[in-house]
Amino acid sequence: MIQKKVCMLGAFAVGKTSLVARFVHGFFSEKYHTTIGVKIDKKLLEVEGKRVGLVVWDLYGEDRFLRVEPFYLRGSAGYLLVADGTRPETLEVAQEMQERASAELGPVPFVLLLNKHDLPWRLEGARVEGLRALGWAVHYTSAKSGEGVEEAFLALARRLLS
Ligand code: GDP
Ligand code: MG
Repeated sequence: MIQKKVCMLGAFAVGKTSLVARFVHGFFSEKYHTTIGVKIDKKLLEVEGKRVGLVVWDLYGEDRFLRVEPFYLRGSAGYLLVADGTRPETLEVAQEMQERASAELGPVPFVLLLNKHDLPWRLEGARVEGLRALGWAVHYTSAKSGEGVEEAFLALARRLLS
């Protein structure tokens, strides 16, 4: 079986940990996770007839300093970049992180998740279209309702195999 490491990148509280919980374990919790560390989850997927083990790395707790440590990124086949559609400034953070990740990893596949789509939305459609025009794969998600979550992870998995 093919195993692929992917990591979660994005500003604090955009929903990275919640998206992993939704995707891997199928649940949503309102409570904050405050412990500091790296959590590694694994999910088996079948993509175009191939079995893939997606090994998802998530920094949890105090990731507000945007320290994207090389050890965290190292060996990643791709990553999920997350922004919060209720806080447009988190999209800028995501773009900065994308630059850092691509400097570290080279041009590996990634997908952008615009999360919290169940809440009042503040992100302009034009900004999203601008990113799509650059070739970015953009998914609207809600870790709370589950909207788009599976699709976004699968879209990354498909890109990892192609
Ligand atoms: P992280 O710091 O990026 O890992 O963010 P968390 O997963 O810890 O989520 C931060 C807060 O946003 C928590 O209170 C979550 O319950 C909440 N949250 C995460 N995703 C969603 C979502 O899609 N919708 C709503 N309404 N809340 C969310
Ligand atoms: Mg987290």
